[in-house]
Amino acid sequence: MSDAIRPRPGIMEISPYEGGQSRLQGRRDAIKLSSNENPFGPAERVIEAFGRSGHTLHRYPPTDHGALRDAIAAAHGLDPARIICGAGSDEIITFLCRAYAGPGDEVLFTEHGFLMYRISALSVGATPVEAPERNRTTDVDALLAAATGRTRLVFIANPNNPTGTMIPSSEIARLADGLPPQAILVLDGAYAEYAEGYDGGAALLEKRDNIVMTRTFSKIYGLGGLRVGWGYGPAAIIDVLGRLRGPFNLSTPQLETGQVAVEEQGHVERCRAENARMRAWLVEALNGIGVACDPSHANFVLARFRDADEAAACDAHLKSHGLIVRQVGSYKLPHCLRITVGDEPSCRRVAHAIGQFLGAR
Ligand SMILES: *Cc1c(COP(=O)(O)O)cnc(C)c1O
Repeated sequence: MSDAIRPRPGIMEISPYEGGQSRLQGRRDAIKLSSNENPFGPAERVIEAFGRSGHTLHRYPPTDHGALRDAIAAAHGLDPARIICGAGSDEIITFLCRAYAGPGDEVLFTEHGFLMYRISALSVGATPVEAPERNRTTDVDALLAAATGRTRLVFIANPNNPTGTMIPSSEIARLADGLPPQAILVLDGAYAEYAEGYDGGAALLEKRDNIVMTRTFSKIYGLGGLRVGWGYGPAAIIDVLGRLRGPFNLSTPQLETGQVAVEEQGHVERCRAENARMRAWLVEALNGIGVACDPSHANFVLARFRDADEAAACDAHLKSHGLIVRQVGSYKLPHCLRITVGDEPSCRRVAHAIGQFLGAR
């Protein structure tokens, strides 16, 4: 190809995102604990809605997402006019970067932050900037110190992936109030429903004009395969994002299935309770065999090993027993493994296999 044909600056710096492994060669019974999926999937009514949506596939979907936004607003007590829906919350992150950052601008996130922040920043030619964390936890002082006159977006996931740790609302408020005036704070609430009594930052946002919250159907709603997420923020910002959004970015199955899913709050409640129960069990089991983990507020735990070699050897042992967890070297945590909280048999199997691995050393 001619040398004259090149992508825009930044794009060749992107290391493509790799999803959690889902298969093991030669095993049909592998248990996937690598992508923070809900082991119970969506409620039955949600699957039926997906099936029904097949009957109208010859029609274009609605462009305004009105019914889905109304359902989300009703479930969370929000203003439907200030909700924007996307193909996963990843698409909302992309809209924010496209709308607010470009060459010469900085996009700030934390040391062990979600990989999509870097990818989205680079895709628009902006400069990704990382602030250190303190004990694998978001450090507001470090973020404030790293913010400059060029910072346009600050992403924090609360609870964070892959650490599972979170910061209190008072700290989020301190961050929002201390940022330079041109910067937007994005609160990624992919795991907000798993954190007891946390609203994803919705209340904080009402009093400020520089916070956007993102949420997803991929985690507690058990719909990672559907690709639906949403954002909520000040009317002026949502208006900007709406101008970038393709009119048909969500298909009829996405819209109709998502709407029923958000109505099934009983299912969400049951999944939250079961996750909390098994997360506590798993942390205790791991601690009992000498594996440390930070307190997790999400649907996964980050298990810390002596070093990267031990983590990799444990991962290989787990794979040989049909258990797929996530190595997190790409998050600069090579001595850790991120383990999704599965159903009870999966949790028992993974704890048992790790104990076996450590006992044999
Ligand atoms: C899983 C995850 C998301 C959700 O992405 P979707 O595009 O909505 O599936 C967003 N942020 C973080 C930190 C995540 O771990």
